[in-house]
Amino acid sequence: MPDHATNPRTAVSPKTAAIIVAAGRGTRAGGNLPKQWQKLGGQTVAWHTMQVFGRHPRIDRIVLVLHPDDIDSNLWPSDPPADIVAGGATRAASVLAGLQVVEGAADRVLIHDVARPLVTPAVIDGVLGALDDTAAAAAPALAVSDALWQGRNGEVAGLQDRTNLFRAQTPQGFHTDAILAAHRAHPGGAADDVAVARAAGLAVRITPGDEDNIKITTPGDFARAERILKDRMTRTSPDIRLGNGFDVHRFGPGDHVILCGHKIPHDQGLDGHSDADVGMHAVTDAIYGALAQGDIGRHFPPSDPQWKGTDSAVFLAHAVGLAVQHGFRITNIDCTLICEEPKIGPHAPAMTARMADLTGIAADRISIKATTSEQLGFTGRGEGIAALATVSLVSP
Ligand code: MG
Repeated sequence: MPDHATNPRTAVSPKTAAIIVAAGRGTRAGGNLPKQWQKLGGQTVAWHTMQVFGRHPRIDRIVLVLHPDDIDSNLWPSDPPADIVAGGATRAASVLAGLQVVEGAADRVLIHDVARPLVTPAVIDGVLGALDDTAAAAAPALAVSDALWQGRNGEVAGLQDRTNLFRAQTPQGFHTDAILAAHRAHPGGAADDVAVARAAGLAVRITPGDEDNIKITTPGDFARAERILKDRMTRTSPDIRLGNGFDVHRFGPGDHVILCGHKIPHDQGLDGHSDADVGMHAVTDAIYGALAQGDIGRHFPPSDPQWKGTDSAVFLAHAVGLAVQHGFRITNIDCTLICEEPKIGPHAPAMTARMADLTGIAADRISIKATTSEQLGFTGRGEGIAALATVSLVSP
């Protein structure tokens, strides 16, 4: 066993802070509030931005740089937790205020514009990966693919070569000490932190940007960001279906009943076209129901003699197969058997194990329970057994 306390080769992962610059007063996006406090998909732009960094597994700390007037407001999100810092008169002054908070506490910093709420984990990973790989600094960008013109008096005056031209994005990533020194030495007026880094002689590696990592500036940008968010939600939300099933079989002559695939000795049997497994029928119908695919009678007509005396496991296997064909997995089954006799409790574990076998889902996602109907109705009079089932199906 290596001694982690003394082994110099034990890797310590670098601490990474994200500085979110939200001190601007920009109202070009329309509305009365600065754009970072305007709503996008029901939450503020700043909230979306903070969530991405808050959920990223490699970000240890978030610093939110605010306009001094906003610090005592309830505009900024309290989750994820962040260090709140007052910004300065310029963007560079605001960044420097953020950097001073993490000085000595974080090895690396990602500096990000709050107005890019749709930044993806992959873009962040690209920047961190470049820093892992010895880059002094790294920033995401997209190669320019449109033709570029020079214009004069509303006319095309010339063509600009687009070779080696990139559209810069954020977050821009740096080693904390190096970018702090660069900011402290910079005379001011830099367009972004990459410009500050380059002025200090740092090489900045270009990492993959994302077309959706837009900077919200105009009202049109809000509309576009809403569309992107909506599209992401439809792509990532699972399709969840619930189905219910109900079945009844009457008692008749016999010496056992089969419930949820398990044989229980009893002084009567259950009448039915198949093996009359009322519990399994309810579960099977619930699966068909969740898929909007009818019921057992539709797939296995009782008028068809070939299903006479069939093991109901055949029906259940068909329903499970249909769920798979439709791209669903069964995430749980809850079945209630309603009868006075036989007592279900002692057999429930065996029934659960059998149903788990047949459906291929874990036993701890299958509930088989029973109730009496207090001697009321047909189940109370011991004329038959009823069963109720609920299942959930999820895709993908
Ligand atoms: Mg039935």
